[in-house]
Amino acid sequence: MTDLVLSDAMAHARRRLDAALDAAGRPAGEARLLAVSKTKPAGLIREAWQLGQREFGENYVQEALDKQAELADLTDIVWHFIGPLQSNKTRDVAEHFAWVHSVDRKKIARRLNDQRPADQAPLEVCLQVNISEEASKSGAFLDELPALAEAVLILPRLRLRGLMAIPAPAEGLAEQRAPFARLREALEDLRVRFPEARLDTLSMGMTADLEAAVQEGATLVRLGTAIFGERHRPTP
Ligand SMILES: *Cc1c(COP(=O)(O)O)cnc(C)c1O
Repeated sequence: MTDLVLSDAMAHARRRLDAALDAAGRPAGEARLLAVSKTKPAGLIREAWQLGQREFGENYVQEALDKQAELADLTDIVWHFIGPLQSNKTRDVAEHFAWVHSVDRKKIARRLNDQRPADQAPLEVCLQVNISEEASKSGAFLDELPALAEAVLILPRLRLRGLMAIPAPAEGLAEQRAPFARLREALEDLRVRFPEARLDTLSMGMTADLEAAVQEGATLVRLGTAIFGERHRPTP
């Protein structure tokens, strides 16, 4: 991908987000763009950074660490870990990311808390929800959220910020909106239960369903293909 194509794609993605916010009657800037760079080379992330993008999402720990090392001079990049998280990878995530969107069980949360270095800010956390209740998918079920949120809120090195979901693919705006509405309601419920927590993040919406997610209150949309083009290796 040449510079020109990336800058076009980035401008188009920003316009698409602005238009979705406008159509939803929401103020410009109320949702921000997370550029999902999994499988894409560090050089492309650098180009996106030069175009003003600062927040990037990665799914694979080792791949992310390699790219972070190459981009160490870009000190204001904010790295988000958005992939499935196994216990043996929590230390790398705790040490090398600002955010993690895929916390779905207490054991992972406790490990991240224990491994977050003392000289770094608390790790910003979203709980991943299996919103379409798919048997093989990661994420906590809705009825597990209050107990999981309570457990995360007492961990001092984590800061619970909200919820993340990847709904089952659906065609049509109404069908796409339904699971996002459930996620929004789940966050509203947590806000009532834990009024002192700063629960301000709904991480939802990808290339195929950004508009539906923004209609339902997304504050962080995770765009990969729309910014960087098709990926040529399978993703989990
Ligand atoms: C790959 C991925 C994305 C980006 O998906 P696109 O359809 O390419 O926009 C967003 N979120 C998660 C968790 C992903 O794994």
